[in-house]
Amino acid sequence: MDLEFSAAEEGFRAAARGWLAEHVPAEPLPSLETEEGFAAHRVWERTLFDGGWSVVSWPEEYGGRGASLTEWLIFEEEYYAAGAPGRVSQNGISLLAPTLFTHGTREQLARILPPMASGETVWAQAWSEPEAGSDLASLRSTAVRTEGGWLLSGQKTWSSRAAFADWAFGLFRSDPAAGRHRGLTYLMFPLDGDGVTVRPIGRLDGKPAFAEIFLDEVFVPDEDVIGEVGQGWRAAMSTAGNERGLTLRSPGRFMAAAERLVALWREKADPGDTGMRDRVADVWVKARAYQLAGYAAASGKGIDPSMNKIFWSELDIELHETALDLLGAEGELGEGDWAEGWIFSLAGPIYAGTNEIQRDMVAERVLGLPKGR
Ligand SMILES: Cc1cc2nc3c(=O)[nH]c(=O)nc-3n(C[C@H](O)[C@H](O)[C@H](O)COP(=O)(O)OP(=O)(O)OC[C@H]3O[C@@H](n4cnc5c(N)ncnc54)[C@H](O)[C@@H]3O)c2cc1C
Repeated sequence: MDLEFSAAEEGFRAAARGWLAEHVPAEPLPSLETEEGFAAHRVWERTLFDGGWSVVSWPEEYGGRGASLTEWLIFEEEYYAAGAPGRVSQNGISLLAPTLFTHGTREQLARILPPMASGETVWAQAWSEPEAGSDLASLRSTAVRTEGGWLLSGQKTWSSRAAFADWAFGLFRSDPAAGRHRGLTYLMFPLDGDGVTVRPIGRLDGKPAFAEIFLDEVFVPDEDVIGEVGQGWRAAMSTAGNERGLTLRSPGRFMAAAERLVALWREKADPGDTGMRDRVADVWVKARAYQLAGYAAASGKGIDPSMNKIFWSELDIELHETALDLLGAEGELGEGDWAEGWIFSLAGPIYAGTNEIQRDMVAERVLGLPKGR
């Protein structure tokens, strides 16, 4: 494996760094889980788009710059190192877009991708249901055939930022007689459509973006079906691969956080505390290992998405716990970056498919052990 960057890649890094240095807001934006913060992050998406940095790896016709996977990894490193805002469009850009590139029509790509890239349309993922989380194939929401399209009914829940998002993508049972994984269709629907009710889920921190979605015979035209009718599970598995692989949680995010942890250690640590020094070093080494795994994936040697997901979600918790231990009582007070990041890190082993389920998948698919379910 060649660990050197080419001159073109170094040039790409310098251009990204230069643009970010000029444009990243000096003060952090309000949380994107609030109405005000969501709106501010949407404006930031537009700024990124206008600069040509919103979706670097997409083809130019959809708002990208046709960057390679290595260049995308470089961009992500620079993005997080610059302390740039979280991506309010992440569910669209990281999950729906790759699914459309594989399963969508040319018409869907041309219609959906440019407004997604500019933040004009922000997407939510509407997969989970009250009785279908880990066992997604047991979902009950239905798509019933009608003239020119489908009528969607049912309830979705735990939909990140759906309270403020514009559109959602989800799976619906279009053939109740077919087996669990068969007879599912992948559809898109507007969150302000007739028959859609979005209700924020009360979170302990009071931030209202997380929502449940109720659908009552919501009409969706045929052109908003992704892939083939009845083949939704196949398309959904390509979304899940992106959610668990590098796309949603890029190595740059963890490398930047690990560098911030090292800086915190320099500022706060008792030099005699070798135990803490070793913990900080351990976290940094893991972030670097994930970074190198990213570059290996860019050269065609990627790891299993479930293993990837277990790794980044556990690293995120370790990283934040180490920071809070360094900060001591100070870390417990207020809404500091580290305290908020730690709370969010605790959700990592749950969203994108729980780590228990991912371990099952690694056992079955990677190790070839007998099915436990
Ligand atoms: C921060 C956050 C954001 C989210 N965002 C979204 C979103 O945007 N859109 C969306 O659709 N969903 C979202 N989710 C929901 C998430 O996908 C589900 O929480 C997850 O799939 C687990 O489903 P569940 O909560 O129903 O738990 P359950 O499936 O009921 O699982 C409960 C526990 O049992 C374990 N378990 C279940 N089955 C097995 C088994 N066969 N073997 C071993 N252990 C098992 C699980 O690992 C878990 O520990 C989000 C969740 C969180 C926490």
